[in-house]
Amino acid sequence: MKASVAGYARAQSLGHAFDLLQSVQGDAVVIAGGQSLVASLNLRLSEEALLVDISHLPELRGIGLHDGRLRLGALTRHAELAEAALVAEHAPLLAHAAPLIAHAAIRSRGTLGGSLANADPAAELPACMIALGAEILVRSAKRERRIAADAFFEGLFTTALEEGEIIIAVDIPLKAAGDRHVIRELTRRSGDYAIVGLAGVKSADGVRLAYFGVSDRPVQATAAMAILNSGGSPEDAVSALRDDLAPESDPHASAEYRRHLAAVLLRRVLAEMTNS
Ligand SMILES: Cc1cc2nc3c(=O)[nH]c(=O)nc-3n(C[C@H](O)[C@H](O)[C@H](O)COP(=O)(O)OP(=O)(O)OC[C@H]3O[C@@H](n4cnc5c(N)ncnc54)[C@H](O)[C@@H]3O)c2cc1C
Repeated sequence: MKASVAGYARAQSLGHAFDLLQSVQGDAVVIAGGQSLVASLNLRLSEEALLVDISHLPELRGIGLHDGRLRLGALTRHAELAEAALVAEHAPLLAHAAPLIAHAAIRSRGTLGGSLANADPAAELPACMIALGAEILVRSAKRERRIAADAFFEGLFTTALEEGEIIIAVDIPLKAAGDRHVIRELTRRSGDYAIVGLAGVKSADGVRLAYFGVSDRPVQATAAMAILNSGGSPEDAVSALRDDLAPESDPHASAEYRRHLAAVLLRRVLAEMTNS
């Protein structure tokens, strides 16, 4: 089926992108890598009057250090996350996560900003951002604001982005010596979205855990984290998942199976954090 789009415009600058978005208020959407949006247009899950192509904007590119944090431009592609030396050094969780996303062709076009804005509950990067304690930098024609990753994902394919806002970049606290970054997921086939996944970061501040594939959004395992961060055992943390997770059954897995996998992943992630 052909995509249902009335118009396309390539933004020449960020200001131009905001003008284009305002020109058909509420009926325009930005396109970055197109790896989720084009499929959704083809399937007629969305219909837009105007696609605003932001994929050539230099303001949204770049991987660097900024104010003592790692700044990743919104147009950073999944493949770049897997390969960039700065990412491997300062946020290895993302270097480990990127190869788990889809297949090479999708990773070479799909972008960080697109993945976060798309807010698929089974996607790796949204959960990583929560585990890392990242902040998402967004801008509209009128203002710029920062949103903590754990407040950004509001529901199924729904975020705190307001109309006319574009994700500019993400700021991530730098990994310190001795910190551990681990991500594990269970999929039916390599490249599939995860049935259940878990991203974990262990630092001097404690352990942060974020699940994906268990709810309508990524879920921070706050009860399990509280147990671990007050000296509790891994098995007590596994028991606390009862309070953190309320997965539902769907054609891919039953709620009970997802709970089981969530416990398996927590044991694996914690063991890996301690062992090496
Ligand atoms: C077969 C297949 C398998 C996949 N498997 C996985 C997987 O296992 N794990 C996974 O995480 N993902 C998976 N994906 C999705 C892939 O990672 C996408 O690349 C990603 O979700 C969206 O990035 P994009 O740049 O292509 O965004 P686009 O498709 O261009 O846009 C997606 C949405 O984000 C919005 N958007 C894009 N950029 C911005 C921005 N800077 N600011 C505000 N809004 C923005 C768009 O308006 C649109 O609503 C898969 C996709 C396919 C086709």
